[in-house]
Amino acid sequence: MPLFGVTFITVFSLIFAFIFGTVLASFITCTAGRLLAGMDWINEHSHCDTCGHQLGALDLFPIFSYLLLGGKCRYCGAKVPVRCLISEVLLGFVFVAVVILHGRIDVIMVRNLLLAMLMMGISFCEIDGSIIHEGFITAMLVIWIGTLPFVPDLQNYIADGVIACFLICGFFMVISYLRTSKGRECFKPGFIKLMAVYLLYTGLYAGVAFLAVSFIIHMFVKPFKKTIVPAMSVCCLIFMCCMTDRMDTSQIHGYITAVADYIRVF
Ligand SMILES: [Zn+2]
Repeated sequence: MPLFGVTFITVFSLIFAFIFGTVLASFITCTAGRLLAGMDWINEHSHCDTCGHQLGALDLFPIFSYLLLGGKCRYCGAKVPVRCLISEVLLGFVFVAVVILHGRIDVIMVRNLLLAMLMMGISFCEIDGSIIHEGFITAMLVIWIGTLPFVPDLQNYIADGVIACFLICGFFMVISYLRTSKGRECFKPGFIKLMAVYLLYTGLYAGVAFLAVSFIIHMFVKPFKKTIVPAMSVCCLIFMCCMTDRMDTSQIHGYITAVADYIRVF
């Protein structure tokens, strides 16, 4: 559905995208907290982490509740982490940016937005509980499989993802083996799984670029030095904004041509 023909539809779509982003950010923050606490993430009512008071609809409105309550719990006055506000605003703006750049709403765009949301959830679990939660990785895989019928150039897209997965994860598994055999610190459990599923989405070229930028953010940006997963999450948001179309189609034709050219030279 093209969005930029009628002003009303454009404005409505952008406002909707922003609200959708903030709501999903709020949902994923809450889900990450519940998963870490070992709670039921679907049926449990939201409550304050400090006083345990059940939260009402007015306490759960993205952005506004935080601002109106001054970043504090209405019932006990405990501070709500500013990260909640930042993640809501950030995901709202990323969703708006993606809709503007993409120019239409389709299943693949929504899939990419859900990927950004899940990466955010994985980061929160990693920051708060130092674990890469399997539940998010499974959700990423299920969404990837479920949206395959909507991907153009399906065969090449799958081939691209699987090649990326084997090559890059294989490389990291060798490094992992070498480090372990020398008794050195290794990757966190779940890291290679997370990368494998992410690479299915990106394919080889975008995957390599994604990991390179993630490692650069991880090594040189101070708040991301402790663990790489939040850097991957930020990188995912950057990629959403600047190369969302790259994630819709396979680049496999590109490297088949490159290999063919290389062979022809000799
Ligand atoms: Zn409270």
